[in-house]
Amino acid sequence: MSPFPKSTVLGYPRIGPRRELKRALESYWDGRSSRAELDRVGAGIRGETWRSLAELGLEGLPSNTFSLYDQVLDTAVLLGAVPERYRAAEDPYFAMARGTEGLAPLRMTKWFDTNYHYIVPEIGPDTVFKLDAGKPLGEVREARALGYETRPVIVGPVTFLLLAGALERLDEVLGCYEELLGALAAEGVAWVQLDEPALVADPTPEELAAVRTAYERLGAARGRPGLFVASYFGDLGEALPVLAATPVEAIGVDLVRGGVPVVDLTGKTVVAGVVSGRDVWRTSAERALAALGSVRASRVTVSTSCSLLHVPYDVAAEPELDPALRSRLAFAEQKVAEVVTLAAAEFHGPAPAGPSVALAGPVVAEGRSPYAVRAAAQAEHLRLPPLPITTIGSFPQTGELRAARAAVTAGTLTQEEYERRVEAEMEHAIRVQERLGLDVLVHGEPERNDMVQYFAEHLDGFAVTRNGWVQSYGSRCTRPPILHGDVGRPEPITVRWATYAQSLTDKPVKGMLTGPVTIVAWSFVRDDLPLREVVFQVADAVREEVRDLEAVGVSIIQVDEPALRELLPLAPLAAQEEYLEWAVAAYRRATSGAGDRTQIHTHLCYSDAGQILTAIDGLDADVTTIESARSGARILGAVESFGRGLGPGVYDIHSPRVPGAEEVEELLRRTVRALPVERVWVNPDCGLKTRTYEQVEAALANVVTATRRLRAEL
Ligand code: GLN
Ligand code: ZN
Repeated sequence: MSPFPKSTVLGYPRIGPRRELKRALESYWDGRSSRAELDRVGAGIRGETWRSLAELGLEGLPSNTFSLYDQVLDTAVLLGAVPERYRAAEDPYFAMARGTEGLAPLRMTKWFDTNYHYIVPEIGPDTVFKLDAGKPLGEVREARALGYETRPVIVGPVTFLLLAGALERLDEVLGCYEELLGALAAEGVAWVQLDEPALVADPTPEELAAVRTAYERLGAARGRPGLFVASYFGDLGEALPVLAATPVEAIGVDLVRGGVPVVDLTGKTVVAGVVSGRDVWRTSAERALAALGSVRASRVTVSTSCSLLHVPYDVAAEPELDPALRSRLAFAEQKVAEVVTLAAAEFHGPAPAGPSVALAGPVVAEGRSPYAVRAAAQAEHLRLPPLPITTIGSFPQTGELRAARAAVTAGTLTQEEYERRVEAEMEHAIRVQERLGLDVLVHGEPERNDMVQYFAEHLDGFAVTRNGWVQSYGSRCTRPPILHGDVGRPEPITVRWATYAQSLTDKPVKGMLTGPVTIVAWSFVRDDLPLREVVFQVADAVREEVRDLEAVGVSIIQVDEPALRELLPLAPLAAQEEYLEWAVAAYRRATSGAGDRTQIHTHLCYSDAGQILTAIDGLDADVTTIESARSGARILGAVESFGRGLGPGVYDIHSPRVPGAEEVEELLRRTVRALPVERVWVNPDCGLKTRTYEQVEAALANVVTATRRLRAEL
C-alpha cells in the first residue's frame, strides 16, 4: 500500500469561486438549460479545484467532494436508498432534494453544528440497498484524465446510518461498502476517505460497537484501497481506541476543536487537522507545529480540521477589505497553502499554552418584573384581542428590491431613491396586513438583505465581504460577516424604519431585531476572545437598539434567535449546559433593558426544540413564535411546561402550498388544548421572505378566518 500523502484537505468548496454552480443549478431547475449544461459546469468546477490544489503543492487530492446538491444525498444514491415514490420522477435526484409537482422533498437539517444543511436519507422496510458507484468512480476517472490521482471521499457507514436513524441496517449497508471498496481498488484507487463525524458526539456503546463491526469488516475486505476514516467537529473520545484497534490504516483527527490524542497510534497514519476548516483566520504555525509534533503515530499527515466547504474560496477576491484585516484572513485557498507549508516543516512538540483571557464579570440580573406582572401591564397597554395574529417579520422580498440594492452599491441608484422604494414596499406590506385583519403588524424587512448581514453592516467590529459565499444548502449560499474587532453600535440602526412603519397605521408594528447569539452564529468570529465575551458585546449593542426603539414608542420588540441551538456544543453535556447558560444570559442582557409594558417577542425556526425548551423559556421573552405546522405540530406535546406567550406556527411557509382555513383551524384547536388560550398567539412558522404575495395573502386570509372561528367560541 502506498503511504498516505504528506498533505491533504478533507474537502473543498464546490459552489464555484463565482457561484457558477448556483447559477447552473437554478437555470437547469427553471428549464432554461439542459442537464448536460449543468454537468459541464460541474466538471469545470471539479477540474479547476484539482488544478488549483495541485498547483498550490497539495499532495493528497480528494475527489467526490463535489456534489450537485449534497454529499449525504449522494451517499443515499450510492447505496441505492432512493425511496420508491421518487423513482419515476424526471430527475429523481433533484426530486428528493427539492420535491416536484405533488411530491414533497426529503427532510433537510443542519450538518452537525454547522450552517450547512444535508438531506436526511429515508430508510424504511422497503429500502433495498444496492451499490451504484457511478459518481465516485466517474470522478476518479475524470481527475485521472486531467492527470490527477485522487482519493474518493464518501460519508462513512456509521455516520450515514446514524443520520438516517437506521443503525440496525449496518450489516446490509456494509455489503455495499465492501463492494464499493472492490470497485475502487479495481479502478486503481490507492486510498479512500470515509467520513465519520457522527463519532465525535459522545457515541453510545451501541454506536461504538457499530464502529468496531464496520471497520473490522471493511478492514478485512481483500484487495481494498487504504482506509482513511476521517472525524471532525470535535474529539473522537472513546471512538478513537475502538477505531485504532481495527485494521484501518489512517485516522483523521480534528486538532482545532479536539485535543491531541492521548492514545498511542503506532502503526497508523494520523491525518492531523491543524488548519481550521471552520473559521477564516490564519493558522498559528507555532501552535500547529507543536500539535503536529505531539501526535504519537507512525506517520503524521497535515490536513484541515474538516472539509473547507464551510469557508469562502479566496481572500484575493476581497480587494476592498481593510489591509490590516486582510492580513489576518485565510479562506480555502490560503488554508491549502498553509497545509502545504506546515507539511514541509519539521514538527516539534509540545503545544504551548494558549493566551489566557479574562472572562467578563457576571451579568447583572436586572430590569423586568416577573412575567405575570409584565403580562398584565402589556394587556392593559396593548389591548389585543384573544388569539392575536401576527407574522414573523419578513414579507416577500421582490427581485426589484434586490436589484435596487445592487444598483445603490454600483452607484446607479441614489440612496434617496432607494429609501423611497423601501418605504413604498413597507407601506404595501402594512396595507396588506391591515386589509387581512392582522393584529400585530410588521414592517416586512424590505430594507434588509439578510437578518445578520444587515446588522453587521451597521455595527462596528464587523466586516462584510463581496465574494465570501459559503454553501448553506443546494444552490443557497450565505455571505457570513466577519466579526473581527470589538463590537459597538455607533448609531441607531432600525429606529428610522420602525418609526416610519408605525406612522402608517394605528395597529402596533413590531420592532424587529436579530439576537446576539444568531448574529454571532452566522458570522465568522474572532478567535482571540472567548465566544461568550463576543456574544455579550453584541448583546450590549442590541440592548442599546431595544432602548432606542422603546424611546420612540415602539411597544412590541421582537429579538429573533433562530440560531440559539446552533452554537450548542455537540458534546459533552456539561459543555452544553454551560453554553445554554451564557446564551440565555446574553439574550436577557439584550432585552432586559425594556420596561414591563414593552412586549418582547422572540422567534425560533425549528420544531425539535423540545430538548432546549427550558432554555427557551429561560430567555424570558413575553412571546415566543416557533415552527410547528411544518412538523405536524409535534411541538405541542412538549409545551405544557412553557410559562409564557407562545405562537406555534399554523402555516408552513417552506412550501408554496396555501393551507386551507379548516387545516389552520384544526392546528389552532390542538394548540388551545395544549396551552391556556390567553397565552396562545397565531402566526406562521417563519418569515415570509421566500414566498410570493399571492401565496402569503391567501394563506394569511385563511389564518384570519380560522382564528375568528375560534374567537367566536370564547
Ligand atoms: N424576522 C425574520 C424573518 O421573518 C426571522 C427569520 C428567521 O427566523 N430565520 O425573516
Ligand atoms: Zn424562522
